[in-house]
Amino acid sequence: MPRIDNDIKLDFKDVLLRPKRSTLKSRSEVHLWESVDLLRSYVFRNSKQSYNGIPVIAANMDTVGTFTIAKELAANGLFTTIHKHYSLDAWKEFAEQNPKILENIAVSAGTGQGDFDKLKNILEAIPAIKFICLDVANGYSEMFVQHVKGVRDHFPNHTIMAGNVVTGEMVEELILAGADIIKVGIGPGSVCTTRKKTGVGYPQLSAVIECADAAHGLGGHIISDGGCTCPGDIVKAFGAGADFVMLGGMLAGHDQCPGDVIEKAGKKMKLFYGMSSATAMNKHSGGVAEYRASEGKTVEVPYRGDINSTVLDILGGLRSACTYVGAGKLKELSKRTTFIRVTQQLNNVYGNST
Ligand code: 5GP
Repeated sequence: MPRIDNDIKLDFKDVLLRPKRSTLKSRSEVHLWESVDLLRSYVFRNSKQSYNGIPVIAANMDTVGTFTIAKELAANGLFTTIHKHYSLDAWKEFAEQNPKILENIAVSAGTGQGDFDKLKNILEAIPAIKFICLDVANGYSEMFVQHVKGVRDHFPNHTIMAGNVVTGEMVEELILAGADIIKVGIGPGSVCTTRKKTGVGYPQLSAVIECADAAHGLGGHIISDGGCTCPGDIVKAFGAGADFVMLGGMLAGHDQCPGDVIEKAGKKMKLFYGMSSATAMNKHSGGVAEYRASEGKTVEVPYRGDINSTVLDILGGLRSACTYVGAGKLKELSKRTTFIRVTQQLNNVYGNST
């Protein structure tokens, strides 16, 4: 008989953070929130490597996981998982011209032999890169676990991100197989159609709470991947225990994203698409086989100008959130988080625009 888990699972939209009395004092003369420290330092369980930065990550998608975006984000202390379709030559050229950025990027790969060979070539050519992102739509297969083990054996000192999964037992399995940081999220993405096509998924806030607990119990880390629609959602992901938050759609549509600005009915737009959408399949035929089971969408998103203003907006939201709950640092945010369940988030009486 099918079993029904009656515990309520929540999404970002189902909660808000309860403000808390605090004794925070402003170090800056201007605003309390400006003195909030967003830098996090981690030492990873299996690689033993350390990280220091603002743990917000651009997703390894064609449209946001690019070298150009990585430069902008690294200048602000953020991280980028570079998509897997750059050639070895492109990697070498980028590394030569941007040696300082290499500590803030990861090389992505799927599970195919071609992917592994390319990963090996890139990491051998550029020793300063320390992060690998092993990315499959469904991280639940024994084959994926074996792959993570194989990559760990080959690269004992690299930090391995692996996913995607949404439940504690699989987080533990992947960490024990050698991964350091587990990517959490099945179905929440803005251009993901997994839930529609397959009926499979897990509300993201609950997935993050449960997976963070499992990972932290073993000394591992997690990334909340997908589903953030505004800075407040990023705050909720960190509040729920995420060590990193990965963004696709929130970073799309900017000057620094590839593709032209399209004019439609007087509005400026840019193309954004899932890595298993028809657009991505056509572009990289043969390169996306492991994504086939969970298709993705192609959408036009409003053109948003310079990505730096969006980044500042996100960081401003994070800092301000910390002051509302009395956290002087991002590190303290989850300890000071109490979520309250809500039936409504926003007052849209004057429309949905920002
Ligand atoms: P967003 O921040 O746009 O809500 O979510 C970004 C995440 O969506 C990515 O990091 C990745 O995990 C996921 N994603 C990207 N492309 C696809 C796709 O084509 N199909 C599915 N199922 N997920 C995708």
